[in-house]
Amino acid sequence: MDYSALADLLFPGIDTTPADIEARYPARVLPEGAKVTRMAPSPTGFMHLGNLFGAIADERLAHQSGGVFYLRIEDTDQKREVPGAVETILQVFSDYELPFDEGATVDGDNGLYGPYRQRQRAQIYQTYAKWLVRQGKAYPCFCTEDELAAIREKQAERKENFGYYGKWAVYRDMPFDEVRGKLEAGEPFVLRFRSEGDPARRVKFTDLVKGTMELPENDQDVVLLKSDGIPTYHFAHVVDDHLMGTTHVVRGEEWLATLPIHIQLFAAMGWRMPKYVHTAQLMKLDNGNKRKLSKRKDPELALDFYQRQGYCVAAVKEYLLTLLNSNFEDWRLANPEAPLDQFAFNTKKMGVSGALFDMEKLDDVSKNVISRMTADEVYTHLTDWARRYDPDFCALLERDPAYSKAILSIGRGGKKPRKDITVWSGAKEYLSFFFDELFKPDLTYPEHVTAADAKKLLTDYQTMYDPADDGGTWFERVKTLAESVGYATNMKEYKKDPAAWPGNVADASMVLRVAVTGRQNSPDLCEVMKLLGPARSIERLRLAAEKL
Ligand code: GLU
Repeated sequence: MDYSALADLLFPGIDTTPADIEARYPARVLPEGAKVTRMAPSPTGFMHLGNLFGAIADERLAHQSGGVFYLRIEDTDQKREVPGAVETILQVFSDYELPFDEGATVDGDNGLYGPYRQRQRAQIYQTYAKWLVRQGKAYPCFCTEDELAAIREKQAERKENFGYYGKWAVYRDMPFDEVRGKLEAGEPFVLRFRSEGDPARRVKFTDLVKGTMELPENDQDVVLLKSDGIPTYHFAHVVDDHLMGTTHVVRGEEWLATLPIHIQLFAAMGWRMPKYVHTAQLMKLDNGNKRKLSKRKDPELALDFYQRQGYCVAAVKEYLLTLLNSNFEDWRLANPEAPLDQFAFNTKKMGVSGALFDMEKLDDVSKNVISRMTADEVYTHLTDWARRYDPDFCALLERDPAYSKAILSIGRGGKKPRKDITVWSGAKEYLSFFFDELFKPDLTYPEHVTAADAKKLLTDYQTMYDPADDGGTWFERVKTLAESVGYATNMKEYKKDPAAWPGNVADASMVLRVAVTGRQNSPDLCEVMKLLGPARSIERLRLAAEKL
């Protein structure tokens, strides 16, 4: 067989050689040990937690080693492409503060190793494909869907392995003239790799997460180019990560199954393989069973879920880091204030099997992260979120920024800051009583407080309240108020014999709290009343008393 003639027959328009292409992609000049990583999403418009999970590892590995983190758009499947998807990808990574050093931009490229959209690289893949054909390592296959189905049926009957390989690879050695005849007849073909692999033999491979393993060689004649001349993932991965100088491929562990194909293709091309970091699948507990997060069942898989709910970027990243590196939580405890990029990310600390994604833990992390923010930071984040998702609330917050910041300051700072905001979408409910427009009190008093006592407490306090009181004086006054209805003011004594009193000072202050804030749980009441101002506070006490 004259493979050169076959190559020219299949790719008449390709006159570039691998050497021409290699010349366009010189080796990167980087400091010793610098890692080059990439994010390679398909532009389907759906960005999920897994994308972010991998990207955090990519970004850390690159940037903490003085390397490069770049974006490549894997748009080989045109059917799944959604308009605007690249914008979404860029927006997400900018929101999550994972800056790309190079790669695809909204309308072009930034960097010397492009183009960074795979469909624009067709000629590059075809140049290497032609070169493989010339060496007899790839060949055209004209199998129709029906023929492939028939092969599969026979394999099932004979209980043989499925696929296109060995004796089943019917187009492997098609005579040149027949190939030409089919091309002239306009029959579409895919280009397949001629595998010499034998699954009885094993290849040794070391993954930076999973460790060293032995995998069976690939014997399938995988498709390199589809009938439109666009590569499959396997071929594009090998060509692109070679040319673009990727040193570390971080990708989901679902790719491990096809790794023998990649090993084989790198060898056929004569290229050094990058290092691989196969990340564990994100799982969740569902009725006590661990299962993969699913696009259909779990809204929390989609990244826009976190944006709509108003999870802060720092919290999501922080939580994903706890899943990515087993020593992250300890580091955080020892360094509560340190910026994330001071943590030494290490592939050795990555989990080998399914990472359990737990929303409750994320909520805890989120509460902690927000509790460490200053009131100004909270104000900025909250208004940014509200501007997009709740403009009316945003307008309320921005009406009097000093007032909004003052309410956000309550309980902030100090050793034990309040942890009452988990997500920005929850802040409105929590802050509602500070805004008359949103105030819808639930006047439920402690059970053992009689209506008569509550009414007296609320009425008397209207004349007793002095906005000039500091916290201590304020509480003394509440004690005096409590005593006036015969409530215990010494909690220790009260606890010894609760039946001896109709109530205690905590009940009295709860009655006031419910009237002023409309709920049983609020930040420091003395401060709340100061912010609301005496007129509004007293009016609320009066209205509540009236309802009793
Ligand atoms: N386009 C592939 C995906 O979205 C990329 C996998 C990889 O990072 O190599 O799954």
